[in-house]
Amino acid sequence: MENLNSTEYLAARQHAFPCEQCGAQLQYLEGSDSLVCAHCNHQHQIQLSRVPIEEYDFHSTLKQMPGAAPDTVQYTVKCQACSAEFEFDKNLHADECPFCGTKIIVDSHEHRLIQPKSLLPFQINAKQASESYRKWLSRLWFAPNKLKKFARKERKLNGVYVPYWTYDCGTDTRYIGERGDIYQVRQQVRVNVNGKMQTQTRLVNKIRWSPASGTVRRNFDDLLIYATDSLPRTMARELAPWDLNELKPFQEEFLSGFQSEVYKIEIDQGFDYAKQRMHPVIRQDIRRAIGGDQQRIHQADTRYRNISFKHVLLPFWIAGFRFRNKTFQFIVNGRTGEVQGDRPWSAVKISLAILAGLALAGAVGWVYLHGDISTAGNQIRWNSY
Ligand SMILES: [Zn+2]
Ligand SMILES: [Zn+2]
Repeated sequence: MENLNSTEYLAARQHAFPCEQCGAQLQYLEGSDSLVCAHCNHQHQIQLSRVPIEEYDFHSTLKQMPGAAPDTVQYTVKCQACSAEFEFDKNLHADECPFCGTKIIVDSHEHRLIQPKSLLPFQINAKQASESYRKWLSRLWFAPNKLKKFARKERKLNGVYVPYWTYDCGTDTRYIGERGDIYQVRQQVRVNVNGKMQTQTRLVNKIRWSPASGTVRRNFDDLLIYATDSLPRTMARELAPWDLNELKPFQEEFLSGFQSEVYKIEIDQGFDYAKQRMHPVIRQDIRRAIGGDQQRIHQADTRYRNISFKHVLLPFWIAGFRFRNKTFQFIVNGRTGEVQGDRPWSAVKISLAILAGLALAGAVGWVYLHGDISTAGNQIRWNSY
């Protein structure tokens, strides 16, 4: 795709993979190495790339940015409502944004972006994804029935490749702290026994603190960072694990029939997220290195070595829609069928549950406590938001 002008680029994407038999658009067949024609069912084997999956050096890439991303120009369209941005696709015309359910106005513009070099192709198809989704919905006991019905009946799942960064790096962390070792001493204490003061001997735990310092090293591999913000970060993260050992070199064929979101988190910002992920692991290493029964860490300075990154696309089935002026999002892992999503609560159902809880607590309470019912209300309260 390098060095195409805009007209050529758009033309290339519009006629990417015509069916050899009927000329209709071929689409990637989930879980296979083939494209399939929805019109005449003809299958076409993808010539799989043997190009090894490249990793970029972090610092040299940062130096080239901004303005001169190491890769090609990309044409994108943007959702006006939630500002999710997708790779331009002819088939996207007058479509709904998968993240928020608003109509996307096609307004394609040029972007300099780092191109993904690998991806995980869709393993499960729309039908399998919606089965997982329905099962998950039916377990949402507190969701309003109308919403569940709406979500089940009206919404189709959209297949979207979602952008991620993965980082590799080594860390050297110099630390200064203290090691605490527990020892026991005999202590004499005065205690009140049946109104008389007595002296007793007891074993009491004490901690002996001694200074500790040193360096811990660790190599981090494939720290996976969500590279956009169309979904809550925690929701996207909960969709893990991903079988990253199955990454395929990027090929347009895998994208055929799906939308492809472009990244919004730049690589340096992404690395800040990666640091947050490494931090607790390094702290744990330091505690282990200090040893003893307890540890104090006063200072820890980390140097990050050999940082490299990959830009990968991961397959999501997404249902995003508006219901009673609120956006709801549900996502399905396109490899495993794992489901995550907003957990809406029905005020009516929660009230009923509280009433039921009160009634039960009342009955139980009457027997044991002569009617203390306040705890039941507290137990329910943490469920609502
Ligand atoms: Zn065909
Ligand atoms: Zn949107």
